[in-house]
Amino acid sequence: MSEVIDKVALRSTVQKHLSSVEKPSENTSLMNDALRKEIKSLLIQKNAVLVAHYYTDDDIQALAEDSGGVIADSLEMARFGANHPASTLVVAGVKFMGETAKILSPEKTVLMPTLEATCSLDIGCPVDDFSAFCDQHPDRKVVVYANTSAAVKARADWVVTSSIALDVVNHLTDMGEKIIWAPDQHLGGYIQRETGADMILWDGACIVHEEFKAKGILDLKAVYPNAAVLVHPESPESVVEVADVVGSTSQLLKASKEMTNDTFIVATDRGIFYKMKQASPDKRFVEAPTAGSGASCRSCAHCPWMALNSLELLRNALRDGSGEVFVDEATRVKALVPLQRMLDFQIS
Ligand code: SF4
Repeated sequence: MSEVIDKVALRSTVQKHLSSVEKPSENTSLMNDALRKEIKSLLIQKNAVLVAHYYTDDDIQALAEDSGGVIADSLEMARFGANHPASTLVVAGVKFMGETAKILSPEKTVLMPTLEATCSLDIGCPVDDFSAFCDQHPDRKVVVYANTSAAVKARADWVVTSSIALDVVNHLTDMGEKIIWAPDQHLGGYIQRETGADMILWDGACIVHEEFKAKGILDLKAVYPNAAVLVHPESPESVVEVADVVGSTSQLLKASKEMTNDTFIVATDRGIFYKMKQASPDKRFVEAPTAGSGASCRSCAHCPWMALNSLELLRNALRDGSGEVFVDEATRVKALVPLQRMLDFQIS
């Protein structure tokens, strides 16, 4: 893989993008109340619905819930947006989620609070390099994670999210297929270990999940011996090894509701705590440690791009039509095939 994409260059591209985007300004609660009111009325006026990811900030999630929208993982966001009768989808999340909504619902207007909200996995998988890599392995099925650009999806045979990746790879393995997996190397490695599939992996990573540390989690376990450890498989293998449950965001949320432990150490974006605490107000949720005290990362247990979604930008998008997502038609038509395959697979 190193001949395809240089990891140091990739990290620097990711950091450069992070430094170039402005963090949203802090508002007072009075300002937020006014914004919430305005957004709710704009949603009605514009026949729009708010589709928010679990990793967005609490105020966005609460508004989605309050206004008849949805809080979900990327698979459910895609499905909800495609099935909802609103003519405008306001997607609070990161860019590939807006693109996915547009690919599935070209007749709808898709708005995002900011088009600067991207993802290290998407940045780390440029279509030209990826396409060249696929061309070197024409005997393999190309399976890409949803966290990719529309152009990369258009090059794939399958799109998957973390909630169905294992099932799809098992299905392909049963059919005797060999696989190219992109872009998350940790999730790909986890699937490979679980399924025994013949996979070659792209070298991408999520800058949030990659920061979790097994030692820190074990130290926390000593403080909370009855805690269950919930880990998203975008985390490194050493972190997955100390987990009681490994799963997608929605699978971890389900586990936190169903397990009887009173404490959970959670190795995924802390945005999920909003729904976890809402579902289990008597349980304690503790962030899994990341790079440790003194770390200077902007991604410690919270995605810096998800954090760009603010009420103010959301209001602007609805009021002014800013942040509209477009996907060129030729790419859209190609990307729809593996996306639809994923949705149909889930249904069958
Ligand atoms: S949490 Fe990681 S995978 Fe999710 S959007 Fe942020 S960078 Fe991408």
